[in-house]
Amino acid sequence: MHQSAWQKEILRISVVTGLGLSLGWSVGYPLIGLMAGLLISMAMLLRSMAALYRWSYRQGPPPQDSGLVGYSVDKLRRREKNLKSKLAQQAKQLRRYNQGIESLHDGVVIIDQDGHISGFNGSAARLLGLRPEDAGQPVTNLIRVPRFTRYFNNGDYSEALQFDVTQRTTISLQVQITQFGLDQKVMLIKDITERKRVETMRQNFIADVSHELRTPLTVINGYLEMLEDMDLPAPVKRATSQMNNQGLRMKDLVNDLIQLSKLESAATDDMGDWFDLSRLGHSVVDQVRSLAGDRIRFHSPVTCEIQGFAEEMNSVLTNLLTNAVKYGGDGTIDFAIESFGDSVKVSVRDHGPGIPPEHIGHLTERFYRVDDSRESSVGGSGLGLAIVKHALEHHDTALDIESTLGKGSTFSFIISPERSRLKISASA
Ligand code: ADP
Repeated sequence: MHQSAWQKEILRISVVTGLGLSLGWSVGYPLIGLMAGLLISMAMLLRSMAALYRWSYRQGPPPQDSGLVGYSVDKLRRREKNLKSKLAQQAKQLRRYNQGIESLHDGVVIIDQDGHISGFNGSAARLLGLRPEDAGQPVTNLIRVPRFTRYFNNGDYSEALQFDVTQRTTISLQVQITQFGLDQKVMLIKDITERKRVETMRQNFIADVSHELRTPLTVINGYLEMLEDMDLPAPVKRATSQMNNQGLRMKDLVNDLIQLSKLESAATDDMGDWFDLSRLGHSVVDQVRSLAGDRIRFHSPVTCEIQGFAEEMNSVLTNLLTNAVKYGGDGTIDFAIESFGDSVKVSVRDHGPGIPPEHIGHLTERFYRVDDSRESSVGGSGLGLAIVKHALEHHDTALDIESTLGKGSTFSFIISPERSRLKISASA
């Protein structure tokens, strides 16, 4: 086809110039005849090209030409037709995707690289109270929840975020952001109000039961302690001693349960107050000295204040240090509060037997213990690291656990620069 278009074009030029030449020859001016033939060929070509030009601007019918121009027009028209049908197919597919997204029960918001909303579905509009004119606005202007702003700007979307919004009623939402393309984001929003309600009921139930258990336990433990001091026959003494131990364990468990439910139900939009973390570190080392002796090496080259909740942080450090004492063998325990860029890094490292890797991801679950039989002799409720996890969430951070079998474990977390003020300590 391509070949024949060229051939036709050349044939046409040859015929016209040939005719011109022979006419010129017959009247004695072959050169002029040749020129005239060439000019006519060029004129014909130009006419087709002009028609092609007009047609390309949609200002005229397609050129009727059997040569190269005609062939090109033919090709272009076929390509245009293919393209149109592909575009129609894609538009149809896009409509189907949009209908699918629109029909989702969960909210979907597309956010561009500048953090502006570029689209959202009906569920997102309902859950976040968005109006059509909100497209193009920064997402942090429309979701005015400090925790969401921090989560969005932080850029770490490995975990979902939960927060409450109030429109006509207060609803609980869970958002999860995923990045795609060139720093664009898609945000999925779930309504978890019902789930939260059931969760709150469960928390309240546990908190109430724990509170109710506290008084009878105190009475029982008091009498048991009294019995232990009395001169009783050996078997009775053994029994009272065991009851006393279990009673104290139960007291710890109840206290941990109360602490955990308090942490779970605490308002999380509050950033807390500034306090001296280094001083708290020293005080916790003193608190656990009765258990640890001089095994803890406290290293704090910075004096730092952090914004948060001192009581919760006290609980975090106490739990990590007592765990290192209980499970970290007999070696030294390195406890450090140090600068980490503009952040503060807190770490507790022991040189104990370590934790098998398959357990590490579960340690912060309630009542999770690596070896129940061994650890029930050590004491502990299995709630310590769950308390740590929740308390750290209130400080916008998470526990990192590294462990090598036979070498020891390191439990650490990082407090972000927004929550920390550092000074190099004079004693460093
Ligand atoms: P517990 O009250 O049993 O100490 P935790 O939640 O504090 O509960 O810890 C959960 C489990 O994690 C422990 O039972 C123990 O198996 C394991 N664990 C915690 N800290 C360490 C550590 N430093 N070394 C080894 N195992 C640890």
